Amino acid sequence: MIFYRRFVFLRNPAETESPGARKVMRCPYCGNFDDKVVDSRTLANGAAIRRRRECTRCSFRFTSYERIEDKPFMVIKRDGRRQPFDRAKIERGVQRALEKRPVSQMSIENLVNEIEDAAAMRGKINHEIAAADIGDLTLEKLGALDKVAYIRFASVYRHFNDLEEFVREIQNMGGGV
Ligand SMILES: [Zn+2]
Repeated sequence: MIFYRRFVFLRNPAETESPGARKVMRCPYCGNFDDKVVDSRTLANGAAIRRRRECTRCSFRFTSYERIEDKPFMVIKRDGRRQPFDRAKIERGVQRALEKRPVSQMSIENLVNEIEDAAAMRGKINHEIAAADIGDLTLEKLGALDKVAYIRFASVYRHFNDLEEFVREIQNMGGGV
């Protein structure tokens, strides 16, 4: 079993079919090897399973993704190059947009999970997704959570050319920022 970011690739597809099967995962916080699964979801028609886990030692919660294939999930950058999907990158962008905003870490974690899930769904056939699609997904989710963060993210991500464009974007949001 290879741990790839938060994706766990299963060598043996049968592993996913035994519900009680124990996967050894390392707690990213304290390094403990024992956790309990608190939530489990099948994504993209069974191509991946997301599990929320809680460390039995420190109670830290983390997420694992298990995929049946050995193929990594890739992101197609604007210049056409591909690089492995990196959840941390999304997390950083979202954190930056939400800096000093009244939004809990739990909401941020959920938001990033939603973006990751949506990306996995969208890219399920070719195991890849355009970076622009991830940007759009992020905008969409941020817009529902916090309008200031939305504008911050949009201004970085969409590189507004002028003030007019920026104002238009705000108006599209429904005005009240
Ligand atoms: Zn732990």
